[in-house]
Amino acid sequence: MLHSDIYKNILENVFEGVYFVDAKRKILFWNKGAERITGYSSSDVTNSFCYNNILNHVDISGKELCLDGCPLQASIADGKVRGAFVYLSHKDGHRVPVTIQTIPIEENNEIIGAVEVFKDESNNDSVIIKDMAILRELSLYDQLTGLPNRRYTNNFLQSRKNEQLLLNIPIGVLFMDIDHFKKINDTYGHEVGDEILQMISKVFTSTVRSTDLIGRFGGEEFIGVFCGVNREVLNTIAEKIRMLVEKSYIKKDNEQIIVTISIGATMIEKIDTIEEALKRADKLLFKSKNNGRNQVTSG
Ligand code: GH3
Ligand code: MG
Ligand code: MG
Repeated sequence: MLHSDIYKNILENVFEGVYFVDAKRKILFWNKGAERITGYSSSDVTNSFCYNNILNHVDISGKELCLDGCPLQASIADGKVRGAFVYLSHKDGHRVPVTIQTIPIEENNEIIGAVEVFKDESNNDSVIIKDMAILRELSLYDQLTGLPNRRYTNNFLQSRKNEQLLLNIPIGVLFMDIDHFKKINDTYGHEVGDEILQMISKVFTSTVRSTDLIGRFGGEEFIGVFCGVNREVLNTIAEKIRMLVEKSYIKKDNEQIIVTISIGATMIEKIDTIEEALKRADKLLFKSKNNGRNQVTSG
């Protein structure tokens, strides 16, 4: 591959819009980012002249830059890099705010063209929208483990329950609690406790299918929701999770720290409310604890 082909290939795929013009401002190259931001495909614009006003940049005062003040032309004329904030004309007609940079291209001390790089500054990229996305994340996911939090888990259960009333899809739930977790914190410190929670969460997420969910319900309590399973399958899943946690560990100073979990497993029946089913699962979990922990009790 020629060097220039390698660069073209890279430029083709950068996120920003990139295009080249020759010294006469004929467009020779137009990347995917430019297609995305402007709506014009490469074949729409290649070999046309940028002063044909396709993009018709205007500055913030509405001045049309193609006619007088084209930064590409200025860079070609004096060999200087320029930056500007302008509005380009999208193929569909609306104006798109972009920051542009124009860079002259030299070969053998002669300016043979220029490249314009432009970045979409539309509001869909705005800080406030990003903040909202983060807030949404914060309100649904547990920060320590990345698992769905209690609110998300409750919403998920409610949706599955609604489906059950319409379509009669069976739902299995697991109530899971780490055994003697207080002792882990007391022995190794809270940070190690946190690492254990993260490690167990990885075990959980690697064992559930995309239609199922395991959420962090409280400190060291987790709820698993499994759709379309019967009692036997639910027990098999519970036993698998229990075993995988027991076979996992974190390393601290050459020591392997292991924890176990106790589980209560039950089916949400059509006549059950979610609260009733969770209460039953919690009682079954309590039985697992009383019977020596690191086990599944179903009912
Ligand atoms: P059991 O087997 O009966 O469940 O005993 P346990 O010690 O696990 O139960 P207990 O309810 O007495 O203690 C739960 C502990 O979990 C106490 C609390 O400090 C710890 N814990 C809860 N949330 C977190 C957390 O986010 N990080 C850490 N490190 N510990 C937590
Ligand atoms: Mg507990
Ligand atoms: Mg516990």
